[in-house]
This record gives sequence, structure tokens and C-alpha cells, in this order.
Amino acid sequence: RAKADGGCIAHYFEAAMDSWDRSRRRREADLHEAFARGDLALAYQPVVGVRSRAIVGFEALLRWHHPVEGAIPPSEFVPLAEETGLIVPIGAWVLRQACAEASLWADPVRIAVNLSPVQFRDPGLVATVREALALSGLAPHRLELEVTESVLLAASEANVATLHALRDLGVRIAMDDFGTGYCSLSYLQKFPFDKIKIDRSFVSRLGEDPHSTAIVQAVIGLGASLGIVTVAEGVETEVQFAHLRAEGCEEVQGYLFGRPIPAPQAVGPIRREPDVAA
Ligand code: C2E
Ligand code: MG
Ligand code: MG
Ligand code: MG
Repeated sequence: RAKADGGCIAHYFEAAMDSWDRSRRRREADLHEAFARGDLALAYQPVVGVRSRAIVGFEALLRWHHPVEGAIPPSEFVPLAEETGLIVPIGAWVLRQACAEASLWADPVRIAVNLSPVQFRDPGLVATVREALALSGLAPHRLELEVTESVLLAASEANVATLHALRDLGVRIAMDDFGTGYCSLSYLQKFPFDKIKIDRSFVSRLGEDPHSTAIVQAVIGLGASLGIVTVAEGVETEVQFAHLRAEGCEEVQGYLFGRPIPAPQAVGPIRREPDVAA
């Protein structure tokens, strides 16, 4: 009897795995097709100077409009693209597309592009970035590459070398989601980042939770003493903004200043206002 039951359970799991496998493979095939068909798009979210409250740049964010399911969030399909390696060609397309779009904007306005740690396994990454710049004619100093701490976790030495090679192109390197890893400070020692993006999880509790407030204060202070620009992600309220300004944070990004939009150029020519003293 035990044997029969065991067989039955095994059969049950097999069937469950089969259906899980099938839905996963279907999702993979969908993503492949979406990329080939041009159903992936970029949205651009403004980054604003704290003193001037003017747009200093945009972050490019991937969007997938599924014909049946509608919008699928990057938190679902980026991991899938990473597991299948599809993030390499998709990432190259993102770079070309984002640089081409940014080349339409006024000179100092920058574009930030997210890089997956998986793209660092591709020996062609530096060439891909160089090509995106050359094709678009975008000045390298206007391109910012965002990486997360995980880039410095795995294959650390090789990835640090790649980061240096990327920066030798003249682009800037930002550490994204700062504070969410468990060893953030030590990563600042491994590579001299140009910019730190303070994670939304700290920003959202600014002024409410004394610990988050203290952490944000400390990170901004750290940036100032190391000569690293600090950016706060996910700013949604004037109260959060007031805290960030008081602490000396330089740039902000969040729904308070604008949601990601399809094509900023369509809204009107993007100019950069001169900084005004606060
Ligand atoms: P991220 O790079 O940290 O991007 C910021 C995320 O915060 C975006 O989510 C953005 O829409 C969201 N956000 C911005 N302001 C606010 C706010 O005020 N409130 C709230 N609640 N959210 C805000 P999104 O677009 O869903 O992207 C999620 C993540 O997916 C990104 O996090 C990034 O890690 C990844 N991702 C997006 N596009 C790409 C891409 O082209 N390549 C790679 N490798 N990853 C990407
Ligand atoms: Mg980012
Ligand atoms: Mg981020
Ligand atoms: Mg984040």
C-alpha cells in the first residue's frame, strides 16, 4: 500500500512539475517572441536636480506589453530573461534604443541604463556599449550605467575589470538599490562608483522611521565625503523631498516628479534649466 501511495504521490509531483515546466517554457517562448516582434519597449522616468528641481536625466525602464495578459512587470520577466540568457540581446537592444532616444535631448540631459549581472558574463559587453554610443552619437558622459551590488558579489575580479573598462569609455557607473545588499559599504571599496542610488525602501520611510531616516542621512554624508553623487529613488511626497534636500542629497527620482513615460521627446524638447542656488 505504501508503495502504491508513494507511486501515486510521485506521479502527482511529476504531473505538477510537468505543468510548471510547460507554463515556464511557454513564458520563455512568449518573451522570445515578444522581443523578436518588438513588444518590448522602454519607458523613461525623469531624474531631477534637488536644487534646481529641473530634469537632469532619465532612467530607461523595460516594459513588456503582452497581447493577452497586458503589462508584465520587469520584476517578473527580467529574472526569466536572466535565466535564459536572453537578457544579453535584450540588454544590447536597451542600450542602443536608450542611447538613440537620449541623443534627441539637449546635451547635458543624461540617460541611465540598468545592467544585469548576467550581461557581465558576456565578453562583448564593453563593445556593445561602445557601439551603442557610436551609433547614436551620444557623448559618453551622458550615459550612466546602473549596476546592483550583486555584480560585485559573483566573479568579482573579472566584473571589477569590466567596470573599469566601461568607465574608460567615458561613461558613469552608478550603484543601484544601495543598502539592500548585506555588504554595501565594502563594495564601495572594490570600485570607485560615480553615483549611489539610495533604495526606495529607505526613502519611503523617511521622516516616519528614525532608523531609515538615519541611514539615508548617513549614506548622503558618506557620498559627500567620498565625492560620490547621491540620488534618492522612489520619492513620492514633499516631506520625503524636504528631508533629502535638507540632508544635501543631489538628485531625486520618484512619482512626485514623474512616472516613467514612453518618449520624453514627444512631450517637448528637453532642456536643462540652469541650476539655481537654493
Ligand atoms: P530599478 O532600476 O531600481 O528601477 C526603479 C524602479 O522603481 C522602477 O520599477 C520604477 O518604475 C520604480 N519607481 C520609480 N519611482 C517610484 C516611486 O515613486 N514609487 C514607486 N512605488 N516605484 C517607483 P520598474 O520599472 O518596475 O523596474 C523594476 C526593476 O526592474 C528595476 O529596478 C530594474 O532592476 C529592473 N529593470 C528595469 N528595466 C531594466 C532593464 O532595461 N535592464 C535590466 N537588467 N533591468 C531592468
Ligand atoms: Mg535602476
Ligand atoms: Mg534602483
Ligand atoms: Mg530599487
